[in-house]
Amino acid sequence: MASQVSLAFFGAAGTVTGSRYLLDVEEQRVLIDCGLFQGYKHLRERNWKPFPVDPATIEAVFLTHAHLDHSGYLPRLVKDGFDGPVYCTRATRDLCRILLLDSAKLQEEEAEFRNRHNYSKHKPALPLYTQHDARKALEHFEVVDFSMPESPHPGITMGQIEVGFYPNGHILGSSYLDVKAAGKHILFSGDLGRGNDLVMRAPELPLYCDYLVVESTYGNRLHDNRDVWEAVAEIVNDTLSGGGSLLIPSFAVGRAQAMLYLITELRRRGKIPYVPIFLDSPMAISVTELMQRHHRYHRLNKASCQQLSRDVTFTRDVQDSIAINNVNVPAIILSASGMATGGRVLHHLQRMVGDHRNTVMFAGYQAPGTRGARLVEGEKRIKIFNRYFDVKARIESLDFLSAHADRLELLRWVQQLPAAPKHCFVTHGEESASDQFRISLSEELGWRASVPDMGDRVEL
Ligand SMILES: [Zn+2]
Repeated sequence: MASQVSLAFFGAAGTVTGSRYLLDVEEQRVLIDCGLFQGYKHLRERNWKPFPVDPATIEAVFLTHAHLDHSGYLPRLVKDGFDGPVYCTRATRDLCRILLLDSAKLQEEEAEFRNRHNYSKHKPALPLYTQHDARKALEHFEVVDFSMPESPHPGITMGQIEVGFYPNGHILGSSYLDVKAAGKHILFSGDLGRGNDLVMRAPELPLYCDYLVVESTYGNRLHDNRDVWEAVAEIVNDTLSGGGSLLIPSFAVGRAQAMLYLITELRRRGKIPYVPIFLDSPMAISVTELMQRHHRYHRLNKASCQQLSRDVTFTRDVQDSIAINNVNVPAIILSASGMATGGRVLHHLQRMVGDHRNTVMFAGYQAPGTRGARLVEGEKRIKIFNRYFDVKARIESLDFLSAHADRLELLRWVQQLPAAPKHCFVTHGEESASDQFRISLSEELGWRASVPDMGDRVEL
């Protein structure tokens, strides 16, 4: 009798966050990604539900990459009894050290804030996990080398399960996973990067698989194909020549470095004037420094890496961050978070959004319900720290700078599979994006595809 293999979707089903896929192979049980739910409140509340299986029964976790919607639940999983290894690439481990501790700190601060302001239905309000929990989780990490399609090999073999990590171009250390479970091949795309990213190398070709689990963040959209350099130079020059400043909300991991490269390179080429540039995000600063240690999988050489810190003011301390307010000349400020949901970018936003001379330039995916999405949709009044501000600044959304493949790029990548999979599971997208990409797979390629619901379990 054939071995039993089942796959359950415990997140990133009908949403872009909370990636968690459980694989049961006879007596073995492993988890692919262990993400936080983010965005709307009804999604965030899922983080507080007990994990659908006892975490102690999970033998190992495999991470595609470090973004919190793929790794941010780990401290809680460990706290609730998971005691196995967490396998990932070296850069993913290094990034998780930064991200998980920061996430824990935010959780602690938020619980503390709620208790102080009596602003919680739970008394006392507790953090989902603490910095202590995050440090405990980090002790479980074990580093795996990348494999390459031209010389494929399982990075990890565990009983009936083999898992190889292949670079997929999304962020430092990110991979698609080639999982062989009792003779069946399952490929998890992770978040798929793009062929022409500014910083990351193109995704490696996909290996043969029986089943494909593929992301669909931009499954119903195409990035516009304006020239990145020209488009950004034009916006920067328009803003600066009118006496305004630019605020670029950026994801601390990935987009902040890409934007910094773009801006510093435009300046080096003399395409934009010499104005002060600030990177105002301690986490983005740490990640920028980390990039210089992980050369192999991004495009920037040593000189370009150095350019990211030369002539850019890194403001790690709060005092330095506040001092940016006193800069009375046009400036370019990069700050996190990328969807303006929290972090230092909010202080700049409340100061800058009411001045028509300024530009706020978003450079990545804006999840529905976030402040970033509302600004991009053209809302004229926006609430920040319990106060309303009129939006007068120019709002730009450069989603062609996204770290996610668009519909055609996704299709092109899957078409490079040596053969059609028996079935494709379309995940990690808003419902309409996933569904549109499912339709593309079935109508344009004639492949069998479905969009799993949260909690679905399938026998492979
Ligand atoms: Zn990601």
